[in-house]
Amino acid sequence: VSSFVDITEESSQRRLLGLTVQAAGLGTWDWWMPSGEVKFNERWWQMLGYEPGALPAAVTVWESLVHPDDVAAARAALQHHLADHGQPYHCEFRMRRADGSWGWIMAAGAVIERQANGRPQRMAGIHLDIGARKALEERLADAALTDALTGLPNRAALRTRLMQCSARAQRDPAYCFAVLFMDFDRFKQVNDSFGHDAGDELLRQIAQRLRATLRPSDDLARLQVAEHTAVRLGGDEFVALLEPLRRPEDAMLVAQRLLDALAAPYQLAGQEVTSTVSIGVVTSQSHHGDPEELLRDADTAMYEAKRRGRGRYVEFSRDMHERVRQAVDLEAELRRALRADGEVFPVFQPIVDMSTGCIRGVEALARWMHPTRGAVPPIEFIPLAEDSGLIAELGELMLRLACVEASKWREEFGADDRFTVSVNVSRAQLRKPDLPDVVERVLSGTGLDARVLRLELTESVAMQDAQIIPTLNRLRALGVSLALDDFGTGYSSLATLDQLPLDAVKIDRSFVEKMVENRYQAALIKATLDVAGTLGLDVVAEGVETEEQANMLRLAGCRLAQGWLFGRPEGAARIAERFRKSVDEATGDVRPRRA
Ligand code: C2E
Ligand code: MG
Ligand code: MG
Repeated sequence: VSSFVDITEESSQRRLLGLTVQAAGLGTWDWWMPSGEVKFNERWWQMLGYEPGALPAAVTVWESLVHPDDVAAARAALQHHLADHGQPYHCEFRMRRADGSWGWIMAAGAVIERQANGRPQRMAGIHLDIGARKALEERLADAALTDALTGLPNRAALRTRLMQCSARAQRDPAYCFAVLFMDFDRFKQVNDSFGHDAGDELLRQIAQRLRATLRPSDDLARLQVAEHTAVRLGGDEFVALLEPLRRPEDAMLVAQRLLDALAAPYQLAGQEVTSTVSIGVVTSQSHHGDPEELLRDADTAMYEAKRRGRGRYVEFSRDMHERVRQAVDLEAELRRALRADGEVFPVFQPIVDMSTGCIRGVEALARWMHPTRGAVPPIEFIPLAEDSGLIAELGELMLRLACVEASKWREEFGADDRFTVSVNVSRAQLRKPDLPDVVERVLSGTGLDARVLRLELTESVAMQDAQIIPTLNRLRALGVSLALDDFGTGYSSLATLDQLPLDAVKIDRSFVEKMVENRYQAALIKATLDVAGTLGLDVVAEGVETEEQANMLRLAGCRLAQGWLFGRPEGAARIAERFRKSVDEATGDVRPRRA
């Protein structure tokens, strides 16, 4: 008896399948289960870097190539399929290649023949090289834990690490770690002044310094700071995780190192930029909360470091929460106060000619008298206004109020062409191209002669921002004069006096203070006077408190000075009183009266 079956259809199907397998680069396997013999196609061997048939074609050999960590999962997948053949066999594992490296494989297959009793006897399937996909997955997983800009671990990565550290600290009382929360004191200004590209560049340079500073060096090795890691949380916020630490105090040594390393000047777009950093420190010894709470407390301590004057580190303590809450309240309060009538107002400090004793001008300084808190010191609310974006509003208010007073004085005491009213302007104001328009409006609104108004810009601001020069020129074109404030505290040289459109320079109080004992400060003051004299600039020495300082300044050739020796800042009414008592009828000069 013969039977004939037409296999034309079947063989063409098989050819098609063969072509597909080849085109897809699939390895195939065909496992005869009773003997354990497996047939592999050429591609299968190729995937592992072997010549076809280089190894015995046995299922045990195959299994011996699977990564030890993946064997259990691979077996389980097989059992799963054998137990329930409705489920296809599918799994992913690493296999050792001929060169010893590991390659990721995806295996799929099914039982294709059974014995009469139903037991599986033949399985077949494919292998697919999924190395590229796994590499991508790993990269994505890394990316999820990495800050793209700096390449540092990110917040998610830090959270995982902190959980591990906290868990370990609970088990092992000898184990100690610390979190240093860092924030740049001038980042926003750099971003505003130089643009986002420069801001990004600054962040990359910061990251580099963090890495370098935390890298194990001799002293750090001695401190046993082994697994220290720098993390970027976002914006200009970075965290250093120090662990393990031998003693909690070692965290402060590292914090100091970071302060030093990060305060050195940065080169950005061909310019030098400096910024301090404020650091909040929390050690595991003083903290048993969860990682989120730990970070929040480190942030709180950082905030406190800023409040105490920036450029420093502060260790967290419980009572800080309350203070920070108050600071946040303070911002809302300042916002309100700026719109309330008379709560924020200027006081005026005389600037005198030391050779004649005449008052040559006044500087308007902002004061805030809070209805319940009392006087809030400028060192607190000026940085707060800068950080919260309220500074422009504050600046405009001060400008207007100072000009109102100045025009009243002009009316009552007559015009002295050399008399100036100085108003401080912040970087945020200078950055606004409409500042000259604002100034012009205020001048015409108050009817004040533009020559009376002098705007003080801080040295660091002026030096780091080439974009403001057109604004400065427009201000001067209005007739307003410009003074460089706090000279000597930044990093600019005497040459900058020539580069900026200036009328005056104010030597910072710290220089006047040190001048008496320190020859360097004395020499710098002399050099400033020389250069300023050549350029035709007024020089005002700030913070003159003693006769000794005044005499030294006089000898050095400095005529103009401001300081407690000649008068403290006073309200408009008191200053007017002082003018009234000392007006020189003949010249119209306003003379100070010595107490
Ligand atoms: P500044 O512009 O350098 O003002 C001089 C500061 O030195 C004032 O501090 C003044 O009271 C103080 N001072 C004057 N003479 C002496 C002295 O003999 N000894 C001592 N120890 N201090 C003296 P103040 O009023 O606390 O202001 C601090 C800073 O706040 C100012 O420094 C200025 O940068 C800023 N500021 C004040 N008002 C404004 C404002 O309206 N706008 C802006 N943007 N900043 C302002
Ligand atoms: Mg000033
Ligand atoms: Mg100053």
